[in-house]
Amino acid sequence: MNKEVIILGAGASGLIAAIESARRKRSVLVIDHMKRIGNKIRISGGGRCNFTNLHVTAENYISLNSHFCKSALTQFTPADFMALLDRHHIRYGERSEGQLFCIRTAEDIISALQKEATAGGVDFSLGTVIKKMRKQKTFELVTDKGLFTADSVIVATGGLSYPDIGATNLGYTIAKEFGLKVTRLRPGLVPLLFDKNTARQFQDLSGTSLNVEISCKGIRVSGGMLMTHTGLSGPAVLQASLYWEEGESIAINLLPETDLLGFLTDHSQSRAQLANVLASFLPKRFAQRWTEMNDLARPLCQFSPREIGHIAHNLQNWEIRPAGTAGFSKAEVTLGGVDTGELSSKTMESKKVPGLYFIGEVIDVTGQLGGFNLQWAWSSGYAAGQHA
Ligand SMILES: Cc1cc2nc3c(=O)[nH]c(=O)nc-3n(C[C@H](O)[C@H](O)[C@H](O)COP(=O)(O)OP(=O)(O)OC[C@H]3O[C@@H](n4cnc5c(N)ncnc54)[C@H](O)[C@@H]3O)c2cc1C
Repeated sequence: MNKEVIILGAGASGLIAAIESARRKRSVLVIDHMKRIGNKIRISGGGRCNFTNLHVTAENYISLNSHFCKSALTQFTPADFMALLDRHHIRYGERSEGQLFCIRTAEDIISALQKEATAGGVDFSLGTVIKKMRKQKTFELVTDKGLFTADSVIVATGGLSYPDIGATNLGYTIAKEFGLKVTRLRPGLVPLLFDKNTARQFQDLSGTSLNVEISCKGIRVSGGMLMTHTGLSGPAVLQASLYWEEGESIAINLLPETDLLGFLTDHSQSRAQLANVLASFLPKRFAQRWTEMNDLARPLCQFSPREIGHIAHNLQNWEIRPAGTAGFSKAEVTLGGVDTGELSSKTMESKKVPGLYFIGEVIDVTGQLGGFNLQWAWSSGYAAGQHA
């Protein structure tokens, strides 16, 4: 089968690129090895899909080239995606900090994208295994369903996270085979693991959540932190994981909005146990474990001013060195990807291989938590769809 445009991957970016390319009257085929389209959209945002963020800027993205994402984000904005949802009467709402979620279910977005693609005449070849891709005069894709040829190929195969719902390394392999650089890949928006000793100390506190501020390599993020059987999760930790590097420490302020030193100093004559005093700010079981672990199970009045200073400092600078991350199977995104230096920031086309495009998560552009990754998928997909 011959098409003008073949898109590899029926995920967020691939579907938008297909819709836009078909709008320009190009003949379009989308190939995916999974039997259903939009698997990651379906599970995103806990099933309600945090599909964009009202406050999107280039600062919300991590990439070796922090400017690369700007052009695409300007070409297709959160308002443009909201207009698409409005056309399909899909209801959505803002949760916090500009994060937009579907009111009903992420399935609404998938079906809107499916309808737009079908109306534009986009063909799908799902459950199709791509065996090889080469470029002769046109691009040739050898699959288990036969040979497909195209003038342009858009690679929209996403990152490595959640392999059980379809993630593979195909996009990175194609990039390398065509001579494009791929930057270091690692899991992002992922829980961090305690070392064995710390995990043992906190194991029975699994499920405890706190509001914290985490510092990592000079970046500060704040929000909820959840203790798990193996380490730390929750929005603040996932966000911090984007900046954390193997072997480094992070500092957690367990009481970011409290003048703890002032409070403890004011109550330094108190006969109450330190754990009970701290329990007015922290979950009780955590306060107890913390004081036991640090050999501080005494009444507050028995601590010197210097010791009180240490206690406040340590609770507001809890330094831990994570043993690692929970890996790609638990990560929401992949950090790194096709080097942005290889691509046009306006069209996503390869500078070396005309007609070959990369969009979405496969590129070295990773968004923070809060709808930024899907916005990047829509924006980069739209940009490629205007040219391929
Ligand atoms: C649990 C979870 C929750 C998330 N929640 C959010 C959220 O609320 N908001 C947000 O902004 N981001 C969220 N993300 C991230 C977001 O889903 C992705 O960044 C986004 O889907 C990337 O879009 P994409 O088009 O690049 O890739 P994908 O949407 O992953 O699509 C890639 C497609 O390529 C196909 N494919 C892969 N390999 C092959 C192959 N070898 N052959 C054929 N086809 C192949 C896949 O089957 C898939 O259909 C979440 C991610 C996860 C894992």
